[in-house]
Amino acid sequence: MGKNYFQAIPLKDSYQKKLREFTASLGNAIGKGETIPLVDNDLAYTLNLQNERIKEKGLEIDYEAYSRNEDNRFFDIADWKDKHYASRVGFGVYGVKRTLKRDGKIIYKDKLRNDFFGTITDIVSGAHPDNDPYICPNCGADGTIAELQNGCPYCGTQYKMDDLFPKITGFYFFDSLGITKLQLLIGWPLSAIFCTILLYIYIINQLINPNAFKLLPFIDTTQTMTVLLSTPIIGIAYGFFLFCFIHLLFKIARSIVDLWRMGTAASRKRFEYGMKKITPEFSFEYFQNKALSLVKMAVYSKDESELPFYKGEPLPAEMKDIIDLNYAGIIGLKRFEEKDGYVTAEIKGYFDILSVKDNKVKFTHPVYSATFKRRTDVPVNMNFTMTRINCPTCGTSFNAMKNKCCPSCGNEYELITDDWVLVEIKKA
Ligand SMILES: [Zn+2]
Ligand SMILES: [Zn+2]
Repeated sequence: MGKNYFQAIPLKDSYQKKLREFTASLGNAIGKGETIPLVDNDLAYTLNLQNERIKEKGLEIDYEAYSRNEDNRFFDIADWKDKHYASRVGFGVYGVKRTLKRDGKIIYKDKLRNDFFGTITDIVSGAHPDNDPYICPNCGADGTIAELQNGCPYCGTQYKMDDLFPKITGFYFFDSLGITKLQLLIGWPLSAIFCTILLYIYIINQLINPNAFKLLPFIDTTQTMTVLLSTPIIGIAYGFFLFCFIHLLFKIARSIVDLWRMGTAASRKRFEYGMKKITPEFSFEYFQNKALSLVKMAVYSKDESELPFYKGEPLPAEMKDIIDLNYAGIIGLKRFEEKDGYVTAEIKGYFDILSVKDNKVKFTHPVYSATFKRRTDVPVNMNFTMTRINCPTCGTSFNAMKNKCCPSCGNEYELITDDWVLVEIKKA
């Protein structure tokens, strides 16, 4: 378990292949509602909700994730595992192109320089999670791993383990730290003009007063004209270095502010330590993946009060105008507390949000805070899915995303018996 940020270790070939297929089909899942066969149930459900939101707003989106480097490879960034499953985060240099249309007319277009992070989950060798849920990649019916290997009870397709695993269980795009074209187009000329003016002041001072302290070596007073004419060129070159330097200072300043806003790494460590007492395999990476998935589902849902995991106030109306939500910066743990058999954890993070109200499109980067709660007497099941739960009263399995109550005994299912619930999302 751990993070491998500083070594570029390529992922296994089978993982590379699935991540490539995933990024290639992501656009059609979001834009056209097509199913991606390689994802877990919760992710499939989230992408579906997002597609419905876009359609409901009367919009069409052309969404494309494209590789920004030739060899199109993914690298191992972080990992965690339990008895049955091992998850890894793969990193790839990807960009996203989005074109938003209404009645065939383009109302918004952008191209983002992003890095892609995808969580990919595989079975631990030797493990047989036969009864674990898996949605049929062909027809979308709820089933189990064993059922799909014996032939889906609905469409009959038979799968090999290699078709089902590894699968993608989460993803996000992260803003590259690079300089944007716009910043360069404005920043460099300004820095160049600034440097040129400074150089002229310096040169004129040297010409008037040849005995002044010589800071720069290139002034030859016998060739005044050449010096004066070549100054702007030197100014442009110096301007570039000045621009890069200022840019770097801003980045450093921003990351200091970010870290302070998002909570410290120490609180993350304490949270991990506390949770490991209940579930030794617990990691913050796992929790982050889970948290993002629940936030997305709540935001994209038509009515979050219908969702089994949502136990909060109605969401602010503007969240229902969001058509594309992406985690866009560090997620930190703002606070966590353990009390009366429950643990409560509040995270804060940057999000990139594309929202549409009437015909106005907005692209913003708010900080959201989200609070999660779960029991401390039940170990974390890292592969828990709401699409197939077992009724605690009678044992019947059913899809809790579709029915809140057990279809056999009628008892209302309380998700907090098994997993995390989301109790609040707000703009921070
Ligand atoms: Zn099927
Ligand atoms: Zn029941």
